[in-house]
Amino acid sequence: MDAIRLSAPASAPAAPTIASVRDDRVQVVLMGPPGAGKGTQAGTVADLVGVVHVASGDLFRESVKNGNEYGLQIKEYMDSGKLVPDDLTVKMVVARLDEPDGLAGFILDGFPRSLGQARALDEMLEREGRRLERVINIDVPEETLLARLSGRWLCSECHASYHTVYNPPRVAGVCDRCGGALYQREDDTLETARDRLAVYRKETVPVLDYYRDRGILVDVDGDQPIDEVTRALYDALPLLSA
Ligand code: ADP
Ligand code: AMP
Repeated sequence: MDAIRLSAPASAPAAPTIASVRDDRVQVVLMGPPGAGKGTQAGTVADLVGVVHVASGDLFRESVKNGNEYGLQIKEYMDSGKLVPDDLTVKMVVARLDEPDGLAGFILDGFPRSLGQARALDEMLEREGRRLERVINIDVPEETLLARLSGRWLCSECHASYHTVYNPPRVAGVCDRCGGALYQREDDTLETARDRLAVYRKETVPVLDYYRDRGILVDVDGDQPIDEVTRALYDALPLLSA
């Protein structure tokens, strides 16, 4: 796997900095442990504010499904609940954010998940004269997460997230949104879910502190009905007219 270059080569002209110019794009990260409700909420919130929802897990699942050059390696990491290495992860997410719809703003879901990824995202945004305005942490107690993950069903087409008990589709096995077939993720077993939670505590909790120290982190209570969480997330977004 090639290491990727995250900063401009020394000989290149300095990237224009527009730090003094207002950047009104919604550029927000949704964080929270596996099962917190990021996928459930991110699509709705992104539609509400008219930006794209970018989920690193969805990008990886697409790569595995399409059998791209890194598909097999990615699958091994995902099946064991480990993080895919930072260089590959950053490369995929940055490429997605650089597409025209990503340039207009984004709700990021599941990225960054390590301090290396958080720093790489900062560098990429800064290089392009963009900045992260808010990071929202969906807070859910651990004992709730395993029950959520074990009952999760996902749409194979649009990635919408359902739950057998907490958020069932109108017709079993069929996506309300697009009619796609629903499936259960191979890594939503109890054992892998526990491993993913351990990885979250070790690798991702420090990222929350990184953003908290910068004063851009807001906590939202994710242990309430889905609509209430949506409302709280909307309230936590940066005010565009401020
Ligand atoms: P994440 O993307 O953070 O891993 P998901 O959005 O896929 O989590 O949600 C995990 C599971 O929990 C799904 O089955 C989803 O339907 C369910 N869920 C999401 N939000 C809530 C909530 N507020 N109350 C109950 N269940 C929820
Ligand atoms: P998710 O769909 O967010 O639950 O992610 C599923 C799996 O994809 C994780 O357990 C990791 O193996 C991988 N993954 C997703 N996002 C990242 C990321 N930002 N960094 C590293 N691995 C990731």
